[in-house]
Amino acid sequence: MRMYHHILLATDLTPASHPVVKKAMELSKGCGAKLTLIHTVEHLPNYAYGYTGAVDIEKELLDAAKESMSKLGEETHVPEADQIVESGPPKARILDAAEELAVDLIIVGSHGRHGVQRLLGSTAASVLHGAKCDVLTVRYKD
Ligand code: AMP
Repeated sequence: MRMYHHILLATDLTPASHPVVKKAMELSKGCGAKLTLIHTVEHLPNYAYGYTGAVDIEKELLDAAKESMSKLGEETHVPEADQIVESGPPKARILDAAEELAVDLIIVGSHGRHGVQRLLGSTAASVLHGAKCDVLTVRYKD
C-alpha cells in the first residue's frame, strides 16, 4: 500500500529550507508519490501602491521567485508543470492548491523567514489548522 500518492511541498525558497526539501524528496521517493512544489509571492501592502513602480516590483519579485523555483525544480527533478508560483497570501494559496490537486500530504517547514522564536511559524500553523489532508511540519533547528 502506498502511504501517500501526491505530496505538496510549500517552500519559501530560502537556503534554510534545504532540510525540508530533502525530506520531501526522500518521502516522495519512498512512497512513489508525485511531488508538487508551491511558492507564493505575497502582495505588497496597500500603501505601497501609492508609489510609482509598485506594480513593477511585484512583477520582479514574481520573476525572481520563478527563477528560484526553476532551480529547485531541477534539484528535485520536479517538472515545470508541477511547479506553482503565484501571488497571494501563502496560507490561502497552499490550502487552495492542496484541495484543487487533491494531494494527500502537505509538507511545510516549522518555521521560515520570520525566525524560530515561536513554537510554529504562522504559515505552518494556518496550514495545520485549515488542511483537510495530513500535514508534515519539518522541524527547524533552534
Ligand atoms: P513561516 O510562517 O514564515 O514561519 O514559514 C513556515 C513554513 O511555511 C516555511 O518553512 C514554508 O514551508 C512555508 N512558507 C512560508 N512562506 C511561504 C511562501 N511564500 N510560499 C510557500 N510556502 C511558504
